[in-house]
Amino acid sequence: MPPNFSNIYLSDVEFVIFDVDNVIIDTVGAAQKAQLALGEALKNFMDPQSARRVKSQFISNYNTLAAQANAGVGVVVEKFESLLQCIETWQRGVLHDGWELKLWSREVLLAIALEQEDLPVTKEWIDGCLQPYWAALTRESRIRADAIDAVRRCRQAGIAIHLATASDGFLDFNETEQTFIYHPPTAVQRKLDRLKILQKLDLEDSDVSVGDPIGKPDERFFRQVLLDFEHKLGRNIDLGRTMAVGDNVSDDVLPLLSLGAARGAWLAIHNDLSGGPRLLEKNPRVGVVKSLSDLDNIPWPAS
Ligand SMILES: [Mg+2]
Repeated sequence: MPPNFSNIYLSDVEFVIFDVDNVIIDTVGAAQKAQLALGEALKNFMDPQSARRVKSQFISNYNTLAAQANAGVGVVVEKFESLLQCIETWQRGVLHDGWELKLWSREVLLAIALEQEDLPVTKEWIDGCLQPYWAALTRESRIRADAIDAVRRCRQAGIAIHLATASDGFLDFNETEQTFIYHPPTAVQRKLDRLKILQKLDLEDSDVSVGDPIGKPDERFFRQVLLDFEHKLGRNIDLGRTMAVGDNVSDDVLPLLSLGAARGAWLAIHNDLSGGPRLLEKNPRVGVVKSLSDLDNIPWPAS
């Protein structure tokens, strides 16, 4: 007889895999501080008016990516297609080397913003403006209060936890070729450095799988996540007692369910829920929560 998921609670789970950005840590406020730092740094290289325009182009492009990420299932937001084309053009060096596109590369978003303002794209400008950006994002990131609570309760209940985080797409600029290049070990290390705040939850680098060089939602990444988790624990994971938790259900949750995880929790804090009912109807093993404190009692649809 199939299990009735409406009766299953956090206490029935042995393994939980959390997404990081905007699930364990809050980067929304930090992103705004980082954009301010970028705006200040731009003034070192150009007049204040140009700096302001480049900064607002950068923010507008970033917001297009964020809107697309939070859009309902099957929705393509305005300006996304043309932005994606620009990203692909600037990343021809990455693609040529056989890597997947790094959608969220801020280096590339800045190059696009400079190009939109008819300004030269130089390594000095890219590095000189992004260094303060990443420093501010790292410094201003905060652990979410409900994440502190959820991690503590998991540990008290003897539930093993692991984190699976997307690539930040850290890329290097090749000024002569006017394109970006990718070095996966550097990208992994820079992402782990950006997440040092996780130490406040006693989480270490070995608790985190980073989506470089292959990232979400690719099934190969999530296979690696499960291997990393098992390697860390020194034992096998029972997928029948595993839950995936994320704010982007298609990127964080559904791939793990495809691999056999018993259930998922969609933390819907910033999302457009317009596609929600249809998506949940198709995925009865996913429950929606407004806070990680609700993981204990998800209204699972009966299967
Ligand atoms: Mg996230």
